[in-house]
Amino acid sequence: MQIYKVGGAVRDRLLGRPVTDIDWVVVGATAEQMQSLGYRPVGADFPVFLHPKSGEEYALARTERKSGRGYGGFVFHASPDVTLEQDLIRRDLTINAMAEDEQGRLTDPYHGQDDLCARILRHVSPAFAEDPLRVLRVARFAARYAGLGFTVATETLDLMRQLSESGELQALTPERSWKEIARALMEDQPQVFVQVLRDCGALKELLPEVDALFDVPQPDAGTHTLSVLEQAARHQQPLSVRWACLLHGLGKGQTPPQQLIKTVNERFKVPRDCQELALLVGQYLTHAQRALELEASTLLELLQSFDVYRRPQRFEEFIAACEMDARARQGQEECSYPQGDYLRGAAETARAVAVQPLIEQGIKGKELGEALKAERLKALQTYKGS
Ligand code: ATP
Ligand code: MG
Repeated sequence: MQIYKVGGAVRDRLLGRPVTDIDWVVVGATAEQMQSLGYRPVGADFPVFLHPKSGEEYALARTERKSGRGYGGFVFHASPDVTLEQDLIRRDLTINAMAEDEQGRLTDPYHGQDDLCARILRHVSPAFAEDPLRVLRVARFAARYAGLGFTVATETLDLMRQLSESGELQALTPERSWKEIARALMEDQPQVFVQVLRDCGALKELLPEVDALFDVPQPDAGTHTLSVLEQAARHQQPLSVRWACLLHGLGKGQTPPQQLIKTVNERFKVPRDCQELALLVGQYLTHAQRALELEASTLLELLQSFDVYRRPQRFEEFIAACEMDARARQGQEECSYPQGDYLRGAAETARAVAVQPLIEQGIKGKELGEALKAERLKALQTYKGS
């Protein structure tokens, strides 16, 4: 049996990038042999094992054929006679279809190294079209390696377009799509992910609400969204902020304003914190941008909606998303964002109002809440005037 390093580990070593996780492929072995060597099987569907000590993934070389719609519809064939070349041809991109043996010798039947040098993301074979998730993967790799000058090969983009037009993307489960979207948003240039999806028609399938931003009558809304995402990555914002940035334009002119954001959140079963922030940004972004002009009562309403007393972190993330929007609008790298500090000061002011004196006055129950609100309003009026 022979063991090879494959996929991302080989690619990133050749690119001179840090290698975080290593995937291995095993040729000429059976599942029984692996188990007798102490490897632990994982997953019922794939012939994949975990190394007894390192915990790294070792997959038996396999071929696969599509047998139906979606990801469930795959038939795998793993046996000791499957060659390394046969295993590599089922992979998505040529730069991901290289293997390295224990002596560091490269097996590269599909010319991944040439494509690495030429900075091209190219599919390995027409079987690429058998898994629609690959459309998202390619867009994600484009987002990750755009800074190194990588682009998607024309013929690969054509294939991605055919896949998008076929409606196959609809067969992806929310979980698989979200995992790719979340990873893509955390890459160096997430705006490239969105742009590539748009270029191949996948954005219209996956996120028609975002795609529509690029159409009339809002010719700038799409490009603006891309710039906001770019800013979010440049400022190393967390996933929730990046997700809110992607969707921030969907609230405009809608009744109710967050309906589209809610629809998108639900489509991908997005984690709660991301859902919440996107909805709040959609609803209150314009408030934040006009923060210095807001009436004290509106300011208070905003702070109450955010529950800044118990959820200060979420309010910070809201401010961050709004700041990315402002930066993208001003098109300046080093512009300041006075609204941010103003909102933080307002939150501080409202938070500083003590409840104890009100209790001592004998106020209770529902009246206590009202009295506290009235005190906060007074404090905010003073804050505004100062
Ligand atoms: P990353 O740095 O994001 O981990 P990676 O290339 O290692 O990148 P993995 O998802 O870890 O990506 O997958 C390991 C390898 O398995 C890939 O390099 C690719 O060869 C193959 N692969 C993974 N998912 C797919 C897929 N959906 N279709 C085809 N090949 C895939
Ligand atoms: Mg990997």
